[in-house]
Amino acid sequence: MAISPLSKNLLDLFLKEVCPACGSRLDDSELLCPWCELRIDRCSEIHWSSTGTSLRDPSDYLETGMTGVPVYSSVMYRGLPGEIVVRLKFNSEKHLAAAAAGMIMRYSMKLPVPGDILVPIPAGRKRKRERGYNQAALIAVKLASLSGCRSLDILTRDDSPSQVGLSPSLRRQNVAGIFHLKDRCRIPDGADVWLVDDVATTCSTIDSAAGVLLDSGALLVWGLTLTYRKRTSDSIVHR
Ligand SMILES: [Zn+2]
Repeated sequence: MAISPLSKNLLDLFLKEVCPACGSRLDDSELLCPWCELRIDRCSEIHWSSTGTSLRDPSDYLETGMTGVPVYSSVMYRGLPGEIVVRLKFNSEKHLAAAAAGMIMRYSMKLPVPGDILVPIPAGRKRKRERGYNQAALIAVKLASLSGCRSLDILTRDDSPSQVGLSPSLRRQNVAGIFHLKDRCRIPDGADVWLVDDVATTCSTIDSAAGVLLDSGALLVWGLTLTYRKRTSDSIVHR
């Protein structure tokens, strides 16, 4: 059956890729439109989970035997990435998980390789019931397909108050001991494990979850978040 020119134009319009952040048309297989790309700042620091401090070379820390894991954040929270986090988390815009995973693949200083395991930071039961999904798990699944890794949702989380507005030391206390390995789950032998989350601030959440994985037999654990949010200058999400 012949397609009329009008139908063909409409078809072209629907088949064209659009920027997942703003909806404008993309010229080719770009991740985001050029205007949205301008609102992204790459995160150029690695952070150590047990202290939240920035570091140049994680091997210096790994060799000291100091507790903690390196946390790689791909981009700064300010600007577009923070908006994407809020929309993904609170507006049910689940399609943005693919954009988040794409941004991690493009901007992270270090990436998981095939054979590595991605473990999403779980949501507490109450939070998951309210939202109906866990944004970190959505990002991990998309990231797994882009990186050739497996995503294993093997941690549970006790309900605890929000981290928002707490001091760094209270944040650490607030998430201490809240993560557990699910029943009948185990860490695959010899695999590097990447804890995936949307935001790192003090890295205390990653630190607490990493402790469980290391106690459960993981040899090497890394944190991998879409954004890094400075407590001082970036906006705090009050929800
Ligand atoms: Zn855009």
